[in-house]
Amino acid sequence: MPLPDWILEWIQKDRLVASKYRTSRKYLRHSKRIQFLEGEKDKNTDNWAWFKYVVISQKHGKYWVRFTDGVYECSCPFFKHRKICSHILGVAQLIDVWPKKESIFPS
Ligand SMILES: [Zn+2]
Repeated sequence: MPLPDWILEWIQKDRLVASKYRTSRKYLRHSKRIQFLEGEKDKNTDNWAWFKYVVISQKHGKYWVRFTDGVYECSCPFFKHRKICSHILGVAQLIDVWPKKESIFPS
């Protein structure tokens, strides 16, 4: 599943982000080790209710990615400023569960 358009747009528009992330899918998939820790699916919809991953990169170390009710969180410093980061994108791409746009850019 390709990146949703609004994420691609955000990567291209935001200078800090654009310099950090390349928009190629390969980059998101292979630069890090992404490990599932725990999670639970909604029994009625079969969608993830919540889950937790750990993302390990040789360069930046280990960060936790959490997903609860459509909202992603990450323990990395970049997330604190932007509400989204390469770790979240990596997990989202791996399992094809994308954050809700409103959780990052409230209108
Ligand atoms: Zn992060």
